[in-house]
Amino acid sequence: MSQDQTTTVWAKTALVGNEWQSNVQLTLSMGKITRIIANAPADGHLANGHQAALLLPAPANGHSHGFQRAMAGLSEARGPSGQDSFWTWRQLMFRFLDHLTPLQVQAITAYAQMEMLEAGFGASVEFHYLHHQPSGQPYDDLAELSARIIAAADISGIGLTLLPVMYQYGGCDGRALGRGQRRFGNDLDRYSQLMSAVRNAVRMLPDDCQTGTAPHSLRAVAARDVQAIAELAQGGPVHMHLAEQLPEVAEVQAAYGARPVEWALDNLPIGPNWSLIHLTQMTPQETCDMAQTGAVAGLCPLTEASLGDGIFDGVRWFENGGRMAIGSDSNIRISLAEELRQLDTSQRLRDHSRAALATRQLSTGRRIFQAAAAGGAQAAGRGSGRIEVGAWADLLALDMSHPDLADLSPNTALDTFVFAGGNDMVRDVWSAGRHVVQDRQHIARDAITAAYRKAIKPLRDGL
Ligand code: ZN
Repeated sequence: MSQDQTTTVWAKTALVGNEWQSNVQLTLSMGKITRIIANAPADGHLANGHQAALLLPAPANGHSHGFQRAMAGLSEARGPSGQDSFWTWRQLMFRFLDHLTPLQVQAITAYAQMEMLEAGFGASVEFHYLHHQPSGQPYDDLAELSARIIAAADISGIGLTLLPVMYQYGGCDGRALGRGQRRFGNDLDRYSQLMSAVRNAVRMLPDDCQTGTAPHSLRAVAARDVQAIAELAQGGPVHMHLAEQLPEVAEVQAAYGARPVEWALDNLPIGPNWSLIHLTQMTPQETCDMAQTGAVAGLCPLTEASLGDGIFDGVRWFENGGRMAIGSDSNIRISLAEELRQLDTSQRLRDHSRAALATRQLSTGRRIFQAAAAGGAQAAGRGSGRIEVGAWADLLALDMSHPDLADLSPNTALDTFVFAGGNDMVRDVWSAGRHVVQDRQHIARDAITAAYRKAIKPLRDGL
């Protein structure tokens, strides 16, 4: 899966910068777009190149916990209390974690990454909090499980931004981690060692891959340590779960005397290298203020719906210039188009509106797709998200021979992909020039799927 050689991609139509251009020839070299020529004839460029009908920048997936892919569909029965919630789902995850081995983590994550690529994502930000053995003892190599995520990216070819997560406490009051959380825990010293080890390990991946840091949430990290963890990112991305659930808002309010977003705005140097994941529980004022910091809202609409988190205020966020990335979080379903659709339809259901996030100039699909491409790149700390010279070649070609896309204008085709289609319309995907999805399938689909099947069998038997 080399990205070293120079190749060309010719597109009948491509979204170059913010404009549709016709007959576009891209030159890709060392993983980047090095030349763009509009109005280039198709002939003569195909011997060592590829042809696309409609070429788009492939957005980065802004938030994932890869191993959770193996739990998809397993927590939908009613529990004994009749009060199923995020917190009962979390109990299932903790049972899962009693068994999960490093090789299983690798196989499940590679499978999730393969599905991300097949869905049209060009990169993945892994919010990785599983660090230790089931007993809570660190592995001999402190970064053992981070190395499994890195190995998964090597197998899938996805552009990885790996964020080892700092997880310290079981709640805002500083209580010890619960039994189900002992694989997550580090103090600041050990976290700092982990970061150094992970920084080293990521060097085995291509140059587009990198690290950042992630204080898990205000529930799990001491307020005084959040800034120190952010500094360990050395200018790279910093991600934190924030304001996802009502009980979390209440807990933070009781401990800190302020709501989570209010507290973060007053006490943290929130800016463009920060991504706040979820933000489903904000007041209108918090939404305006947070949007104006230039930080990214890491939205995971399918998971937020699945867990009953609440509805992100996308209308107000965008009105205030807010930026957003789309993540698949719990990976209960991996689909870029469905995530974008859920984001917009949640606004419609709340406000009794239609085309809630469209503007005068841009139709809904076009607007939120481009926002996800730009914001995803920002969240991943990745020079991608636009088709332009110098950007990583994260590219997505839609299958214009699909009956629902045939003969549509580029804007309408993009709207149709988001609102009436999905993964089956994704024909080719390149991650930093690695042509990993070809003709609707990942190039290593069979091997990755076989490893995944083998990994989940004993896990399912053990539940
Ligand atoms: Zn998450």
